Amino acid sequence: MKLVLATRNAGKIAELRVILGPDHELLGLDEVAPFPEPVESGATFAANALIKAYAAYAATGLAAVADDSGLSVDALNGMPGVLSARWCGVHGNDAANTALLLGQLVDVPDARRGAGFVCAAAIVTGPDRHHVEQAQWRGSITRAPRGTNGFGYDPVFVPSGLDRTSAELTAAEKNADSHRSKAFRALAARLG
Ligand code: IMP
Repeated sequence: MKLVLATRNAGKIAELRVILGPDHELLGLDEVAPFPEPVESGATFAANALIKAYAAYAATGLAAVADDSGLSVDALNGMPGVLSARWCGVHGNDAANTALLLGQLVDVPDARRGAGFVCAAAIVTGPDRHHVEQAQWRGSITRAPRGTNGFGYDPVFVPSGLDRTSAELTAAEKNADSHRSKAFRALAARLG
């Protein structure tokens, strides 16, 4: 099957290509004709993934996959959630997002620093035909950033059962357990 993944992130495209295997041809947004990308205005990860996947399906006519993800912190009642990328007030400033989060959690004791990265992965195969898988990667929030791999909140997230942050894991270690890899694998299992 030929599929488009609604992202320009080369890491996500490579990861999904490996998961899908050679029976599926996966294109990124840079490999299809340009189209206006929708605003991610959904209230949930699933709603945003569907907004992106339906837009890519409508523009290309190909089966379309999209993911939406973020960090859900227990002590913040699940926030930053769908606002993870712009938590500090502007989009995509990882250092500022992380610094703000650590400041908010200064007085939160270790026992209540639980959090999870969440990913919703959606596939759209027709004008009103879709499926969504959601997965979580549980862990806790450190008191200072550590590590230089990954992106976003990786330097302040220690996955359950490990003592390294996800920014101290190799890409292969992260892909074995991460929210995104679990959601993509569940979606791929439906494609056969
Ligand atoms: P997006 O779904 O790729 O747009 O990610 C939304 C935001 O959630 C990112 O900008 C990061 O701040 C955060 N995020 C999602 N997944 C991860 C991850 O695997 N590591 C670190 N941060 C993440």
